[in-house]
Amino acid sequence: MRAAVVESPLKIRIDKVPLPVPDVGAVRVRLEGCGVCGSNLSAWEGRPWFNYPLAPGELGHEGWGIVDALGSNTTKFKLGDRVAMLSYRAYAEYDVASEESMVKLPENLRNHLFPGEPLACAINVFRRCRIEPGQNVAIVGIGFMGALLTALAAQSGVNVIAISRRKTALQVAQACGAAEAIPMEDHFRIIDQVNTFTKSQGCDCVIEAVGCQGPLDLAGELTRERGRLVIAGYHQDGPRQINLQLWNWRGLDVINAHERDPAIYLRGMEAAVEAVASGTLNPAPLFTHTYKLEELPEALNAMKNRPDKFMKALITL
Ligand SMILES: [Zn+2]
Repeated sequence: MRAAVVESPLKIRIDKVPLPVPDVGAVRVRLEGCGVCGSNLSAWEGRPWFNYPLAPGELGHEGWGIVDALGSNTTKFKLGDRVAMLSYRAYAEYDVASEESMVKLPENLRNHLFPGEPLACAINVFRRCRIEPGQNVAIVGIGFMGALLTALAAQSGVNVIAISRRKTALQVAQACGAAEAIPMEDHFRIIDQVNTFTKSQGCDCVIEAVGCQGPLDLAGELTRERGRLVIAGYHQDGPRQINLQLWNWRGLDVINAHERDPAIYLRGMEAAVEAVASGTLNPAPLFTHTYKLEELPEALNAMKNRPDKFMKALITL
């Protein structure tokens, strides 16, 4: 099969490698596609803690496709089932995963592209926000995750304030139900605008969905006393500084919403499949860019540079 190999930072080649063999309790999937995730950037750009070359297909973890081989002791799936999965080498034509980390896609999603992992991630982050109707919620950073969170929050009856650098992303947030859209330009002006919107109360919950220092600082400033600061951005390119004086004074609940428990991941993925199948969540307009496997460098660069209207890149096979 063909698989993308990150040879060194900013360098990818396509290799021919043997088909992976599913282990006990695992299933092999012929991939139809794989989402390209912001968390890939640190390995793509290079950090001292990565060893290159990476394994064939490695970094791809948002795959979906057709079950093609079953390992021993598998019970959940049959050959030909269409599934979304959490696996780790899905920038390739095939990947294997435990059957405990995949979800069957129902017939009415036949024509849907379905990167399950980021959809599960949005559902799981949203659950950890514990938002209640009538609250003011700011979402700092409107990428794919921020837009999904805007839709989930708006549907549950909260006032969503979307904050983003890009005008087109703010338009997406408004289409997803944001009550207020603020350009991420001037730190103090944003704080003023949020204060005006919330009648000087601040936000009950702020979701930081960028993964950079500046937006994290801003998110802290916007959270009210005893409010909830939810860190959904991926902060794995190095250490951060935090204004603990402020966090401590306001008595904030700070949630690191990066999910680590595979069972909760699976539940999030099941809930995502249900939400999309029943029409309560519609990620399709957010899949703005698709690429072939050999165009993975272009996909990663697009994610980094965020061209106009970019929300999410997918590799399709
Ligand atoms: Zn991801």
